[in-house]
Amino acid sequence: MNKINPTDNQIIKRSLKLIKKCPVCNRQYLFSQAQLIEQTETEALVYFSCDSCHSSLLAKVINMPFGVIGSAMLTDLEAEEVLKFKKGEAVNVDDVLEVYQRLES
Ligand SMILES: [Zn+2]
Repeated sequence: MNKINPTDNQIIKRSLKLIKKCPVCNRQYLFSQAQLIEQTETEALVYFSCDSCHSSLLAKVINMPFGVIGSAMLTDLEAEEVLKFKKGEAVNVDDVLEVYQRLES
């Protein structure tokens, strides 16, 4: 996992201004519940975990001069799994058929 440096702190703080509360239980997120997964010059992946209801949220945050914009989705992934699946190949039709055939037999 990336080491937190002052720039990372800033993107997490900005993310917390954008995504203030857990969408499941409405509990306010704390700084310690946000984790920077990946960051480029312009955008970051931030993972939020809720201590109250244990749901997780993955947000793509884009750094703008006036603040941040972004989108988020609930996820079952652990923070460590996000990059693994991000770097993996996309599921194709053959993968789907293979799973179907294995389930049928
Ligand atoms: Zn929650």
